[in-house]
Amino acid sequence: MSNYRAPLADMKFLLRDVFKAEDLFARMPETSEVTEDLVNAIIEEAGKIADNLLAPINQSGDEVGCRYDDGVVTTPEGFKEAYKAYAEGGWSGLTGDVAYGGQGMPKVLSALIEEMYFAANSSFALYTILNTGATLTLSYHASEELKQRYLPKMYEGSWSGTMCLTEPHAGTDLGMIRTRAEPQADGSYSLTGTKIFITAGEHDLTDNIIHLVLAKLPDAPDGPKGISLFLVPKILVDDEGNLTGERNNVRCGSIEHKMGIKASATCVMNFDGARGYLVGEENNGLSNMFTMMNYERLSMGLQGNGLADSSYQIASDYARERIQGRAPNGPVNENQAADPIIVHPDVRRMLLTVRANVHAGRALSLFAALQLDIAKFHPDEEARNKAQQLVALLIPVQKAYCTDRGFEACVLSQQVLGGHGYVAEWGLEQNVRDARIAQIYEGANGIQALDLMGRKTVRSRGELLAVLLGEFDEFIQAQQGNAAMQEYLPALADCKQRLETITAEVIENASSNPEEIGAASYAYMELLGLSLYCFMWQRIMAAVLEARDSGGYDEEYLDGLLKTGEFFISRMLPKAAALEAEIRAGAKTLMAMSAEQFQSG
Ligand SMILES: Cc1cc2nc3c(=O)[nH]c(=O)nc-3n(C[C@H](O)[C@H](O)[C@H](O)COP(=O)(O)OP(=O)(O)OC[C@H]3O[C@@H](n4cnc5c(N)ncnc54)[C@H](O)[C@@H]3O)c2cc1C
Repeated sequence: MSNYRAPLADMKFLLRDVFKAEDLFARMPETSEVTEDLVNAIIEEAGKIADNLLAPINQSGDEVGCRYDDGVVTTPEGFKEAYKAYAEGGWSGLTGDVAYGGQGMPKVLSALIEEMYFAANSSFALYTILNTGATLTLSYHASEELKQRYLPKMYEGSWSGTMCLTEPHAGTDLGMIRTRAEPQADGSYSLTGTKIFITAGEHDLTDNIIHLVLAKLPDAPDGPKGISLFLVPKILVDDEGNLTGERNNVRCGSIEHKMGIKASATCVMNFDGARGYLVGEENNGLSNMFTMMNYERLSMGLQGNGLADSSYQIASDYARERIQGRAPNGPVNENQAADPIIVHPDVRRMLLTVRANVHAGRALSLFAALQLDIAKFHPDEEARNKAQQLVALLIPVQKAYCTDRGFEACVLSQQVLGGHGYVAEWGLEQNVRDARIAQIYEGANGIQALDLMGRKTVRSRGELLAVLLGEFDEFIQAQQGNAAMQEYLPALADCKQRLETITAEVIENASSNPEEIGAASYAYMELLGLSLYCFMWQRIMAAVLEARDSGGYDEEYLDGLLKTGEFFISRMLPKAAALEAEIRAGAKTLMAMSAEQFQSG
């Protein structure tokens, strides 16, 4: 069943009232023409694509999946036409470099669009975000020649991109990759090796596929410092950027049969002396690839959020219509045999939990996307540096926390429908399956938590966290004169205090026992995620109060936001104390058993 409605009112409220995005864009010369009207027009158009083009082929895409036949991958019916319409609409190059045919739009805008596409059809969205990520990496690190040859067609949408990192024995630990790149006399490289799990590695949506491949040069140092990045086209391209028609020696060996995102081709890619071109400097490939990864990780959080919202829409509609049982305080529906299930406190618990997380998750994603935009476009160096620090801290949390909450939202929404949520018709079991992968790829969530705790917090001795907590402080100070906010602000001040205390403790404990980092990491990521959601809710609530005073919005709409924020503070935020206790419990019990004792009896 396809009934997704792009949440345009919520998105516009965030951009205009919560983040005052137009003012920020006006302060940065390269985005100064991005007005509120332009943004609204673009997201409205994107919303139509999500609602009318992508949602209708979501369920059929899941049922049919991609098909593999002797190296050729066929996407389900309707995908090719939808991709053509997407490309012809100019969406592929939305955030691309204007010098090569892109439109130079800020990430905030594409973040909103990605959320809608993931909500409507996650498999389809993956083809688009891989291309965006690949073009971004090329625009930052490729030579002028490569950029001129490849970017225009990728921005145009007639070619698409991939990211080829993973190998059978090297997933998280990419330092162990074995794909080799041999230098050739003409300056190109010959790549040999096998990559697995490559999203969009082969498909029928575009005329060419441009693989970004991590490989090792013959004399490369061991480990992550010996990895280089290469561009490997499926069909070779001449100096003018036209297809030669000659197939490169890269071929899809098979596609995976998997739990969800069945219309996204997940490919084994065999490189057998394939011609490739170095992107960036030798042995610096992993760090160059990370340019793309910050953006890709943000996209995964948006997948979680999008599917959470699409699930919420189904569940909240259902809960107002499905009649079962009577309201605890007496019938609300005297003329019918029963009341709608939305009268039951436990059904409300599920709906409100999902709703509170969807709004806060979207706000956090936009907050992170805004930092990416400031880091890229802001004329002031200090502002750029601060934004870069926030990006470093926020991205692992946004990726892990939004995808965990996203999966949970799909399961809770499924629960709201009871047995009807378990059958395919309503779309929720597909959402559950499609949301699960976002917790795993682009660095499993445990790895995101480790990155946050180890590299971003312990190693920086809390410096990045201090930048974020400075933002909390600034907000609290700015709201001091706002009487209506006084009942909410202590919750945010508590979050700040708790984070400061527990962070100092982990840094101290880690100095004598490195295991304390990994032991604290997951609960710490969740504590920071929950605290950030609190920060986002406070910003939303402050904007609601301001909008209520100035008029122009539907009172019911604003009131619904305020009440959801109050639910978050009183019923969801208390989990922070449990997370703090979990972090404080440290490594002792985690590391107490020997590996042999894990054997089941
Ligand atoms: C559908 C799908 C699409 C994908 N698309 C792509 C793609 O387009 N390109 C690409 O290159 N890859 C892709 N991947 C691969 C994906 O990014 C990896 O599966 C993921 O990064 C995890 O690697 P792994 O599966 O080898 O798990 P492992 O690295 O074996 O990890 C297994 C578990 O151990 C944990 N773990 C591992 N090391 C540590 C450590 N040091 N400390 C603590 N915990 C640890 C992990 O968190 C995880 O829970 C895709 C995967 C899937 C399933």
